[in-house]
Amino acid sequence: AAASAPARSWRVPVVVETPQHSGLTSPLDYLAPTALPPGTLVRVPLGRRTVLGVVWDTPAAGPDALPDVQLKPVAEVLDGLPPLPAEWRQLVGFAAGYYQRALGEMALMVLPPELRQLDATQWGRREKRLHKAVARHDDSVATAERPPLTPQQADALDALAEPGSPKPFLLWGSTGSGKTEVYLRQAERALEAGQQVLMMVPEINLTPQLEARVAARFADRRIVSLHSGLTPAQRLRNWLMAHYGHADLVLGTRLAVFTPLPRLGLIVVDEEHDPSYKQQDGARYSARDLAVYRGHLHKVPVILGSATPSLESWFNALPLAEGGTGRYRRLAMPARVGDGNMPTVRVLDLSRAPKPARGDSAPPLARELLSAITERVERGEQSLVLLNRRGYAPVLQCGDCGWKSGCPHCSAWRVFHKVDRTLRCHHCGFTERVPRACPDCGNQDIAPVGRGTERLEEQLAEALPGARLGRIDADVTKHKGALEAQLASVHAGEVDVLVGTQMVAKGHDFRRITLVAAVNPDAALFASDFRAAERQFALLLQAAGRAGRDAGVAGHSEMWVQTWHPMHPLYQALRCYDYADFARQQLKEREMAGLPPYASLAMLRAEGRTQEAAQAFLLEAARLVQDHAGEAVRLYPPVPTPVQRVANVERAQMMIESPQRLALQRFLAAAQSVWLAQAQQHRRSGLIRWAVDVDPLAI
Ligand code: ADP
Ligand code: ZN
Ligand code: ZN
Repeated sequence: AAASAPARSWRVPVVVETPQHSGLTSPLDYLAPTALPPGTLVRVPLGRRTVLGVVWDTPAAGPDALPDVQLKPVAEVLDGLPPLPAEWRQLVGFAAGYYQRALGEMALMVLPPELRQLDATQWGRREKRLHKAVARHDDSVATAERPPLTPQQADALDALAEPGSPKPFLLWGSTGSGKTEVYLRQAERALEAGQQVLMMVPEINLTPQLEARVAARFADRRIVSLHSGLTPAQRLRNWLMAHYGHADLVLGTRLAVFTPLPRLGLIVVDEEHDPSYKQQDGARYSARDLAVYRGHLHKVPVILGSATPSLESWFNALPLAEGGTGRYRRLAMPARVGDGNMPTVRVLDLSRAPKPARGDSAPPLARELLSAITERVERGEQSLVLLNRRGYAPVLQCGDCGWKSGCPHCSAWRVFHKVDRTLRCHHCGFTERVPRACPDCGNQDIAPVGRGTERLEEQLAEALPGARLGRIDADVTKHKGALEAQLASVHAGEVDVLVGTQMVAKGHDFRRITLVAAVNPDAALFASDFRAAERQFALLLQAAGRAGRDAGVAGHSEMWVQTWHPMHPLYQALRCYDYADFARQQLKEREMAGLPPYASLAMLRAEGRTQEAAQAFLLEAARLVQDHAGEAVRLYPPVPTPVQRVANVERAQMMIESPQRLALQRFLAAAQSVWLAQAQQHRRSGLIRWAVDVDPLAI
């Protein structure tokens, strides 16, 4: 019966998951016994499988449309589920177009994977259980007290309440200025108006913290979280709670931006500058930028919060008169709550520090810094030492012939991990035991060069006998619960000196830390990545924000930076916590170089069996679309990516730049189909993959 269409049937356009490179960018037509409203979830035959699909808005009619007799019928309609709303479809459609992905890929990627596993019967059972769970919800918990607002919080909230078109707001407030309190109060307003709230954080590790605070404040509300750490069943359940309108508040990481919310009234993007908001593979969307778009679609306010906004957001919040776009409204909260001042910054000139002992390849730790930490240990206070490189040493080297621990599969060094005496490639994962002798000359004297967090911990343990050390980085915390356990021991006062990567700089509220030190922050000053300085400033300021949170100990808290370049403008701006001045410097540089936010960028990337194959694809790609580029769009010559070979695949990239976002978008839309056809041709000549990254984080 499935094969023959019913007597009277409707043509419905259905979006199904198709790979980007199949070239299928519009919905497929199917037949249904009744007219199905757009947004309905269905299961439809595709090839030999039956797959999940979403009924879309525009029928695929046109000269190429197949006649009814050639269409297959819809296999099942998941009709217990309300259709995905129009704004959701618009958001997905916009994201697919803007980030140059197939509509089906985008739509299916943002739905809970578990949804694909269910047929209509299983679906019915699932739904009953969900409604039962909702009915059981118990509303008796007492809610936490709201603190009286500080004057700057009150001002920000007044601005948020002003009637008129809801511009996006940039809440620019120091760490500890009470931004979260502003989110909570604004959320309260939305909840009281019967609306739903979407709150986003950059990292999964930060969700439990915020969730606890939100749950304490809104104990009588339904709060669900959405992030990749949930089981598929939890993720489906929470997504359904949001979509049915049962959940009042959704808290999540970047993927949460796509949650269907029928009563959406407020979107918050905390730490909006954080690079984690940009997806780094597949559909490379920016959840921060999509949140702004979504706010505009739903006509609801969006709050972007940060102590160090991205230069894009900062530029958008600068008035026209100050050279910005004036698109966002800036709300400033410069002061910390209570007496907790930001720590005093001490920039320490390493060129004056004593030279390390001969044969010791670890970079120095200044004596002044060590004695400042010792003082803290003696007083029972804690210190945080920041180093953004895990492992023991970034490379091993032979003292005789100069052999280095390169990765055979990548153009990168393998990192020495002392705990298990391995050499590990942080790009492809290739891991081996450390050789007993130099593989090239047999010399037994192969030594670590440079310093990672493991070695820093060892160095500090030697220099500070009696101090209790702890470490937090991706190696220590890869096991479930390890991060929580380590954080708990810091909070319990069982650690005097905590060594960590950028993981510890983010968000964690440490009460007894009175000293923060960055021991090797210089690399970012000379990186080829144009965003490196911006990111480093944010990291250092955020790290500084970990100190002196407790008013009782805040008076003498310090942020130490040991550097070979003490006069660098980045450190000078950091000294007085002058983000606005730093942003001014950076914007001037960006404007002169024609970089974002003064220009829009896209990166065409290609991977091949050889560097020649990858670059040949890019060269031809440029030639084929040259006519579309016109005056407004500029194509740069193809170059190898910064790490050009990973896992035996060669990678190259070509930058595309335009002073006008719209011109770039038009160009990419036209180029896309040309490149799809071209890629088919190139498969034989060694091309493996290609993709466009719109608004790339790094170039
Ligand atoms: P931010 O998000 O800007 O880093 P938080 O909202 O976490 O700052 O606030 C920092 C600390 O100050 C928290 O412990 C918070 O509970 C407290 N706090 C925030 N607002 C107030 C207020 N109005 N009165 C008293 N304490 C407050
Ligand atoms: Zn050797
Ligand atoms: Zn490798």
